[in-house]
Amino acid sequence: MEIKCGYCSKSVKPGDVVKSTLLYRNGNQLARKEKEYCCKQCASHDQMAHEG
Ligand SMILES: [Zn+2]
Repeated sequence: MEIKCGYCSKSVKPGDVVKSTLLYRNGNQLARKEKEYCCKQCASHDQMAHEG
């Protein structure tokens, strides 16, 4: 099964996957979701994109 980065959509080899829990606002509630990325940079960029 192919894994795609949750931020840049590049395909990621299973051994290179970086898992990160994304925190985001859903209405006035804080929600969290586990996502998979190609690298730590994508994980932090995606997190930033979901903040304020
Ligand atoms: Zn990526």
